[in-house]
Amino acid sequence: MVWHPYSAVNADLCIFPVKSAQGVVIKLMDGRELIDGMSSWWSAIHGYNHPVMNQAIIRQLESMAHIMFGGLTHQPAVELAAKLVEITPNSLATVFFSDSGSVAVEVAMKMAIQYWHSKQQPNKQKMLTIRHGYHGDTFGAMSVSDPVNGMHSLFASSLAQQIFVDAPSCKFHQTCTANDSQPLIEQLEKNHQQIAAVILEPIVQGAGGMRFYSPDYLKHVRELCDQFKVLLILDEIATGFGRTGKLFACEYAKTEPDILCLGKALTGGYLTLAATMTTTEIAQSISHHDPGVFMHGPTFMANPLACTAGLASLDILLNSSWQEKIVQIEKALKIGLKPCLDFPQVKDVRVLGAIGVVELQSPVNLKTIQPKFVDEGVWLRPFNKLIYLMPPFIITDDELHDLINAVIKIISRI
Ligand code: PMP
Repeated sequence: MVWHPYSAVNADLCIFPVKSAQGVVIKLMDGRELIDGMSSWWSAIHGYNHPVMNQAIIRQLESMAHIMFGGLTHQPAVELAAKLVEITPNSLATVFFSDSGSVAVEVAMKMAIQYWHSKQQPNKQKMLTIRHGYHGDTFGAMSVSDPVNGMHSLFASSLAQQIFVDAPSCKFHQTCTANDSQPLIEQLEKNHQQIAAVILEPIVQGAGGMRFYSPDYLKHVRELCDQFKVLLILDEIATGFGRTGKLFACEYAKTEPDILCLGKALTGGYLTLAATMTTTEIAQSISHHDPGVFMHGPTFMANPLACTAGLASLDILLNSSWQEKIVQIEKALKIGLKPCLDFPQVKDVRVLGAIGVVELQSPVNLKTIQPKFVDEGVWLRPFNKLIYLMPPFIITDDELHDLINAVIKIISRI
């Protein structure tokens, strides 16, 4: 029996067997074809079965699928690390590869704690974060995800107790008020000697509620972190690689983190790979103080096939006119989803870059709504009150139009 994400093992789930996927089309075993509105959870930005990606991976496969990274190195990892250093904010100079987004977050938290250990401040072990965040399903990542929808009650006595403050209420285009950062300031004043880092998803809070907040807030968080000598970890696992309209969402705030987490679209959705990046100062400090090494090293660290996929994906992205394409998708989503606001069952519609969100008044019944989307020839996977679209960047105007129309039709019948 196969267990699916967030599912009961014996439930009468509606699961659709997939035969193949090509471009933005998912082909089911029963012959139906679906326009993909999910990019396989933010990852498949170039669509599926991309000939350039395929070729790069086949070439790498013929020389080596995997080799341990302890004591050995290889060109795909070295080149991908160099590329990531080139395209991310200037202060980030070192790359630690791992297997998934959640692990990249664990690594980031360990890095922050080990940094303060190296600075003779071993009491700085706590994380400070905002509500409605989501950083993954492993224990460290869960501990900084929203306490209400982040499974805290279930695992309460096993989870590290972190510090939470209210998320800012200022929306993307608004300026922040003192009220937005006051809770953060209070916690920093009170607990900065225990706080290793502030951890946030920049601009877009994803699985914790698909909320978009003002770059102003992020700028202010950076200033406060500097003032109170606390590190800033930005989790760009969902937002990275163009999705929000900037290559990295922190660029909206012209803000540089001390530690950055990347994943998902890093390999164009081909293979699982994540990266935790940091500054020379942090990396050197950890490396030159007891125990003199960073205490992490996954078996499949820097898997050569995954690093090759990362290089190929970045090549495709950076040599495309992705900014224009995201502007085009954003415009189509804004115009197309606007009529949803006329339905009483809709609470809010918001769009940023290639992310479109329709927030309903009440949670959807996934079991009944999922087959309806499939019947309309689209693949969307709502959660809770949110029906959201984040298509591959290669989606055509017509396909996007069909995707949006399916959303409107289904919502009108809820
Ligand atoms: N951080 C963010 C912002 C995410 O959206 C996710 C995944 N949805 C993760 C971390 C965890 O990544 P993974 O599922 O690859 O472990």
